[in-house]
Amino acid sequence: MRFLVVPAILLGLAFLLSAIGSSEGSLGPPDAGVVGVPPAAVPNAHYPSNRPPLAVSPLVKLPIGAVEPRGWLLAQLQLMRDGFTGRLAEISRFLGDDSGWMTLKGQGWEEMPYWLKGYGDLAYLLRDAAMRKETERWLQQAFKSQARDGYFGPADNRGANDLWPNMVMLSALQSFYEATGDRRVLAMMSRYFQYEFHLPAEELLPGSWQKLRGGENLESVYWLYNRTGDGFLLDLARRLFERTSDWTSPILSPARDKNWVESSYYHGVNIAMGFREPGIYYQQSRDRSLLEAVERNYRQVLERYGRQPGGMFGADENIRPGKDDPRQGAETCTMVEFMASFESLLKITGDTVWADRAEEVAFNSLPASMTPDLKALHYLTAANLISCDSSGEHDFQNTGTLVSYDPWSYRCCQHNVAFGWPFFAEHLWMATADNGLAAAIYAPCSVTAKVAEGAAVTVTEESAYPFEDEIRLTVACERPVAFPLYLRLPGWARTVRIVLNGEPVGGTFAGGRYAVLRRTWRYGDQVRLAFDPPIEVVEWPSVRGAVSVRRGPLWYALKIGETWRRYGGTDTWPASEVLPSTPWNYGLVTGNPEANPSVRLVSRRPAEFQPFALDAAPIVLRARARRVPSWTAEGRMVGPVPASPARAEGPVEDVELVPMGCARLRISVFPAVKD
Ligand SMILES: [Zn+2]
Repeated sequence: MRFLVVPAILLGLAFLLSAIGSSEGSLGPPDAGVVGVPPAAVPNAHYPSNRPPLAVSPLVKLPIGAVEPRGWLLAQLQLMRDGFTGRLAEISRFLGDDSGWMTLKGQGWEEMPYWLKGYGDLAYLLRDAAMRKETERWLQQAFKSQARDGYFGPADNRGANDLWPNMVMLSALQSFYEATGDRRVLAMMSRYFQYEFHLPAEELLPGSWQKLRGGENLESVYWLYNRTGDGFLLDLARRLFERTSDWTSPILSPARDKNWVESSYYHGVNIAMGFREPGIYYQQSRDRSLLEAVERNYRQVLERYGRQPGGMFGADENIRPGKDDPRQGAETCTMVEFMASFESLLKITGDTVWADRAEEVAFNSLPASMTPDLKALHYLTAANLISCDSSGEHDFQNTGTLVSYDPWSYRCCQHNVAFGWPFFAEHLWMATADNGLAAAIYAPCSVTAKVAEGAAVTVTEESAYPFEDEIRLTVACERPVAFPLYLRLPGWARTVRIVLNGEPVGGTFAGGRYAVLRRTWRYGDQVRLAFDPPIEVVEWPSVRGAVSVRRGPLWYALKIGETWRRYGGTDTWPASEVLPSTPWNYGLVTGNPEANPSVRLVSRRPAEFQPFALDAAPIVLRARARRVPSWTAEGRMVGPVPASPARAEGPVEDVELVPMGCARLRISVFPAVKD
């Protein structure tokens, strides 16, 4: 087992290198190469993608149903169906027949569309007839609600001049179209965008959440333009960009620091959605400085408030200046919106870094935000979290329970979490502009899509990735067909071995680019990707020299005994606290890793149906650690990580580390201690 000590700053360097690389190489034999980004000369011939004058997208989303999740990912969808997404109407007061989205009178804001956006996609992915019928029952009312001038949805939102809930509903409509081809969607969206187009400037995104989130609306406008080619949509897009809050300038600023409670730019969910908005408009403006602004802002926020494993930043409602340590939570809504932004930017730029970032959140942070049975979730998940209790004895912006697992309490997240896994699943494979296929994000699945001149191919992806270091692809096609197959090389990978039909493929396949195999594919062709992820001890200089442990796509946390205690809810929908039953205040022994490796892999086993549970952890590491008595709780909250090297007492112990997504209680940022 290789073992490396890596300063956190080097991880950033890998991202930078991947952003620079864009030329095509020919490092291997004639049929293998490496590219920074798949070419984007002319649009894909088989799937709707950017029409002129929009910039050609290197990656194109396949229609829902093309990617079929398998293995642990399918399990998440099935658990969602049987848990808080499929059965949310049993417990949500926003999904009753008295909802304004059903009655078309009275109130109906973001909650129902939040839920439907994920519920509908879940229905299509699982091919569940009853769920599809329920989706259509809600969409039917949306169609029915459309006024002569194009407005749709509950009258109250119109009265308040609030386009935000409709932005979410547009996404549900787009998925419905992708799944059914129902052309009423195109007609309805055209008329609705005419309504937006004719709004006086001061009434278009006048303020509040909608102003920060106008990029969502913009993305839907391009979606429709790519299907109808209506020129007015580009004029509307320009106006929407002008009327949306400015996300090109730095998100964090001294003025906003002073006004952090009020600043909508400091709201975690707004950042997760809004930061990508210049990247969406780049497709029309072709001004690369907009893409640079997106990357700059991502880094600014993560470097200041994301000094922790899991790909998130601390914003327990808003970013709070000075509250930048690993105890600060990230809202579940922020996770799923961040992932969706990464998936969107991946299509627009083709840059593998966005896939790395989507995987990091999906594999490490998102699973821990929910109970393993997906029947309850919490509002805030933190990289260091020692008690998921229902007390208010935590230092967060909001008061009351925020970290206990509850089916009821977290109004937005309860509904919005629904689209996290389905959207992730839909973006695993994408079509490329040159009529090939790209394995962009890895998880067990199969994909069926048109390539080359229109031949259908199916690629089966077998792996328990991220819990396995190997991915096996098998091609099925009716006749031999020539097309390029792009394989993302994850940014964390020093080198990837690629084997084609038993023969090693020549070349250097380092992370942050794509391997491309251009050949005539035949039925039964097999490609194997093998990773050899080292265990890395990552240092966080800005957390007073604290350390975290990473291996490939997974971050690891101290295994803390979990005592689950029901404190409310019903037998069917219990609300639970999770309390620690074993000590947590350990520092990791660092020092001379080559001579005396502190962390090592001790066991691995096949991923269970639900691998994101403490006792099901498919990979377990062991680390040498010592207790740090001065590190204590503050109320029910973990204290700040002591400066490293911290004063340790007692003997060196062997502690277990598990993937942080498997742990509901965790220490993933440790003080370093001496042997
Ligand atoms: Zn939320």
